[in-house]
This record gives sequence, structure tokens and C-alpha cells, in this order.
Amino acid sequence: MEKQEWYRRIPKVDVLLETDGIRQYISAYGYECVREAVRTELSDLRAQIAQFAEGAADEDVLLNKICVQDAAESGQSADFRILLTDRIGARLLKMQSPGLKKVLNGTGTILHTNLGRAPLGKEAASRVLETVSGYCNLEYDLEDGCRGERCGQIENILCEITGAEAAVAVNNNAAALLLILCTLAQGGEVIVSRGELVEIGGQFRIPDVMKQSGAGLVEVGTTNRTRLSDYETAVTETTKAILKVHTSNYRIIGFTEETSIEQLAPLREKYGIPLIEDLGSGALLDLTKYGLPGEPNVQDALRRGADIVCFSGDKLLGGPQAGIIAGKKEYIEKMRSNPLFRALRIDKITAAFLETILLEYRSMERALVRIPTLRMLTQNEKEIAEDAAELKILLEQAAFDAEIALYPCRSKVGGGALPVTELPSMAVGIRPSKISAETLSRRLRRLPIPVVTRIEDENVLVDARTFEMEYASEFVRMLKEAEIFSGKMCAEEER
Ligand SMILES: *Cc1c(COP(=O)(O)O)cnc(C)c1O
Repeated sequence: MEKQEWYRRIPKVDVLLETDGIRQYISAYGYECVREAVRTELSDLRAQIAQFAEGAADEDVLLNKICVQDAAESGQSADFRILLTDRIGARLLKMQSPGLKKVLNGTGTILHTNLGRAPLGKEAASRVLETVSGYCNLEYDLEDGCRGERCGQIENILCEITGAEAAVAVNNNAAALLLILCTLAQGGEVIVSRGELVEIGGQFRIPDVMKQSGAGLVEVGTTNRTRLSDYETAVTETTKAILKVHTSNYRIIGFTEETSIEQLAPLREKYGIPLIEDLGSGALLDLTKYGLPGEPNVQDALRRGADIVCFSGDKLLGGPQAGIIAGKKEYIEKMRSNPLFRALRIDKITAAFLETILLEYRSMERALVRIPTLRMLTQNEKEIAEDAAELKILLEQAAFDAEIALYPCRSKVGGGALPVTELPSMAVGIRPSKISAETLSRRLRRLPIPVVTRIEDENVLVDARTFEMEYASEFVRMLKEAEIFSGKMCAEEER
């Protein structure tokens, strides 16, 4: 067919807007939005025809892409309009659906940075939803009926759990460290070991945060060894603090020496400078009890002599994105009255989540079962294998074009915590017979509830440690509906 003929078949925007199908969309989505969708769809169509005319696409592909096969065969433009209407409907649905959506994590990485780090759990979420959907007493004292302290209860629980004199929460741990340095060290110097000048990922690098805070960085020691004497010789009149940073996402092994907070304590006494420790993931319970290597524990760091510690809310703590600062009251009070605090403070949604999660820590046994991060971290192999077996049976019953098998594997902690630890786990390995593992994993990411997986030896792995088993049947249903194992490629995939 000639190019001009294709163009001629494209209906005018105004005409299309008057048809019944499109009118229905207008009542559902509003006029502006639908007109926009119609215009974009039609201009896409024109672009495709132009491409076709330049020989960039062959006719079959074009027909498939613009879905006018039926119209072309029957010569009826009415069919063409119906197809176009459907495509506009699909476009509107996509325009209206949020980009941020639930996904199922089959990767086995518990604190997956790209998948929102710590999952919060349905139960916590429903409690929080109830609190924040209307009004709440964020800064209101219900006893006295007047203005109250924001996050007063959060501070109480944090002090109770960690033994700190005072505590405050801000947006994330990067903000926490920035607030600490700005408040305590601006215009002065901070001493840091060369072995602890970490980059956590993205824009978080200790030297850069230091610069931003207006504090001068004094590097001491070497990459692998820093002694107490290195710190002491660096102390001058302008020294405002000593900072220790947990090397969250890497380990230095071999010929190493690190100076602990306890060893540094005499310097505080002698020179009156505060000891700050950025703990990174901030475990509130002792993970060694569960066979995991010890991450620095918050209570411990304070007991051993840190004046101020900071840590993330959404790493091993298992809560929402937040940065928690805990320690001596005089320092925390200073931070609270820093104007920067106002810019970094948490909102009501975070506050509600943080409080809900922290309350679980009143009983460590309860925390282990009820906080999803801790549950996944400490779940035993037998339970994981049982979940994997259950998922395998569901998949087998559906008789897909694929080999399904149990696949022993290793999960990671992720989120820049316990970088060298691998947890023995069990996955369901799916080896599709008509498509490649890559195609399958891409199709899984396009499901209504996307599923993120990893591939090993041509097997798409769904690690039962992080996969939410309550979605198992839904998962299989989605696979059936999307005909996910079919060798037929849809137009989207060919693009
Ligand atoms: C993760 C981490 C940070 C940054 O915490 P966010 O909550 O991601 O801002 C800072 N310091 C250390 C040592 C960390 O491990």
C-alpha cells in the first residue's frame, strides 16, 4: 500500500474524539488527558508510516505494530478505528498507572537497594495507613491539648532500646551524618582514618559529605592500619571531632589494624572532643546469635564510648528510609536547634512507620518474626526449602513449557551490609524450552506485578528467601494469563 493511502486512513483528532469509544474514556479520564493520548497515538502512527516509507521497516512489521492488519484486509476503516480506540485505551491506562509499583523480589538479595531496601510488611503498612490517612497527632500533645514534640515517642523507644540519652530521626543516614558534622564540626577539623573514607554508592562519599558540612577532613593512618597514636598526633586546637565510619560495603583483610572506639575514649577525656561513629546499617540486635557475622550493634557502640552514633532506618533495622542519630543529650539538643534539622526532618508517614517498627524491638523475639528484613535474614534453610518446594509444585501443576527444578543457591544481604556474607538458600529454577532465560526474565518484569529474578546457567531463579509466598498462586496465575512461556513474540518485544 502507498504511503499516502496509509496517511489518508488516519482519522482526524476531532472526529475520533466524537466516537462512542473515545467518549467513554473522556468520562473516565477527563477531556484533556484523552485528547493528549489521541494526539500522541496518532503522531506515533504517522512516524511509523514515515519510517516504513523510508524503507526502515517492512510492511509486515508495520502492519503488526500499528495493528491495522484486519482493517487493511477488509478495507473497512471502522475496524481500524476500533483497534485504534483499544490502543488509546491501553495508553490511557498506562498514563494513569503510577510508575512506582509493587514488585516481587526473586533475587534473594534481602536489602535490595534498587527495590526499596527494607520491605515493611503488610501488617505494619495497614497500621500506618490508618494513622496517616486522616489527621494524626504529629505535633500535638493530646494530654494538654497544645503543641507537642514531633516524634517524642520515637525518641523514647530509641533511648529505651539503645541506652542513649537522646535520639532524633532525619531523612536518611546521609542526612544524619551531614547534620552531625554541620552542627558539631563546621569551621573546624574532623579526624578520620584513611581506611574508613568510604563510598556507599551514588553520591555518598565521606570526603564529599565532609566538604559539604564545612568541616575540614584530617586523614590519618593508612588504608590498612590506623593506630591510636595516628589519631592523637593529628589532634590540634581546631579539632572538633573524631569520626569512625563503618566500612559497610567492603572489608579490608590481612595485615590490618583498626583503633576501636574504646581505645579512642581517652582522647575524648584528654582533649574534650566528641567521638562520632557512623554505623551504617545499625543493627539493633546481636546477629551473631543467628550465625551471622557481627555488624556493629548500636547499643554496643554507645556502651563502648561513642558520644554520637548514626545509622540507617532501612538497612538492618528493617524500617523506613530514615537516619537515626543517638547519643549524648547536649549534642542531640544542638542538632535539633540547627536550622538544617528542619530541612532534614522526617514526615508523618516515615514517623508512623519508624515507630511501628521500633515498637517491635521491645521484644527481640517478636522483632525477629514480625520485621520482614529480620525474618528473611534469620529464616532457616529448611523453611526456605519448604517454600521453594511449594512454589515448584504450583508451577509444575500449570504445565508450562519449561523445566522446573529446585535450585540450591546463595542469597545476599545487600544494602551495603555484610558484604562478604552469603546465606545458603533455595530457589525454584525455571528453564524455559521455547524462549531464552533472558526473554523470560524480561517478560517477568512486565507482568502486572513485576517479578525481578536472576539468571544462573540458563535458569531463571526465584529465590524463596525473598519471594513473598503469599503471592505464589497470583504469580502462577499471571504467568498463565500472559502466556509467558510462548515462543510467539509480541509487537512490544520486537521493537
Ligand atoms: C548506608 C550508609 C550510609 C548512607 O545511609 P543512607 O540511609 O543510605 O543515607 C552512610 N554511612 C554508612 C557507613 C552506610 O553504610
